[in-house]
Amino acid sequence: MSKKVLVLGEAREGALRNVSYEAIAAAKQISEGGEIVSVLLGDSVKELATELVKYGADRVITVEHPHLKQYTSDGYGQALLAVIDQEKPEAIVFGHTALGKDLSPKIASKLQVGLVSDVTAIEGEGDAAVYVRPIYSGKAFEKVKVKDGIKFITIRPNNIAPLVKDDGKTGDVSSLSVEITNLRTIIKEVVRKSSEGVDLSEAKVVIAGGRGVKSEEGFAPLKELADVLGGAVGASRGACDADYCDYSLQIGQTGKVVTPDLYIAAGISGAIQHLAGMSNSKIIVAINKDPEANIFKVADYGIVGDLFEVIPMLTEEFKKLKV
Ligand code: FAD
Repeated sequence: MSKKVLVLGEAREGALRNVSYEAIAAAKQISEGGEIVSVLLGDSVKELATELVKYGADRVITVEHPHLKQYTSDGYGQALLAVIDQEKPEAIVFGHTALGKDLSPKIASKLQVGLVSDVTAIEGEGDAAVYVRPIYSGKAFEKVKVKDGIKFITIRPNNIAPLVKDDGKTGDVSSLSVEITNLRTIIKEVVRKSSEGVDLSEAKVVIAGGRGVKSEEGFAPLKELADVLGGAVGASRGACDADYCDYSLQIGQTGKVVTPDLYIAAGISGAIQHLAGMSNSKIIVAINKDPEANIFKVADYGIVGDLFEVIPMLTEEFKKLKV
């Protein structure tokens, strides 16, 4: 039976995050031919709405309010609840992003409905859909079926392919006016850390450095390779603890979970807590001086060598391919 599915789009600095399109593709599978309604919350997001239609949304609802300029669970919660109340969807899809991870359980518990989080694949459609999600830090996968009632799903970025963009597709864009009141948190200022360049959680290529990088300056060759490949730089906790880089780059059990097409681990030993954040990457390349390093057990390609020799060589070769 076809279902109406809401999808929460995410915009950052005037651009939609790719996971918004991936969530529409997931919604398509859940809806079984039903309506897909994207929701955009912010202070000025209307102009982004048509892009969501081109990626498969049938309709877009925007809620614009000065209090939605920055994410707060209070503000976004009130806006999303108003949309849910108006639309009465049978499922809601979020990205498994910092925002989605914070907001989805709060709203789901408020509505007393089920939440399947961190979904990496959906098998089947509609009521028969089975949600695949990693458990035990990615060492196993469980398959979850939701029996009845509306369901909340968060999807891990980079795992469900977006639908092919259709520039000719049209759809209704409407706005909903919501009074946002009694905010317990007001964001006065956002101070950026090291988030310039490609977003680590959505990057197709990640070049990660570990304690083997040896210093803050040691990350420079990794950054250069990341720039050539259009990727992002990540790190192990070893590198963060040693103050070689910011904790916002940490990948692993207590850091970010990434699933890029290409993950290059340089000077990382491959501790289980690190593997929890990257072992589902499509292709893993490990560069390590120690041939016995654990990282080689999960690597598709292993290079035993000094990262300060290997990384610049790779950068030069990739530069040649780009010419
Ligand atoms: P090391 O283990 O010191 O490895 C450095 C590697 O670099 C070695 O294999 C060495 O051979 C190699 N090397 C040295 N010089 C070179 C060179 N010139 N060229 C090539 N290779 C070289 N860790 C995470 O990463 N993410 C997490 O989220 C995380 N969460 C944790 C949570 C808990 C509760 C705990 C207890 C630990 C957690 N850890 C996490 C830490 C984890 O256990 C490891 O200590 C950490 O991952 C080690 O980082 P590393 O591989 O960079 O350092």
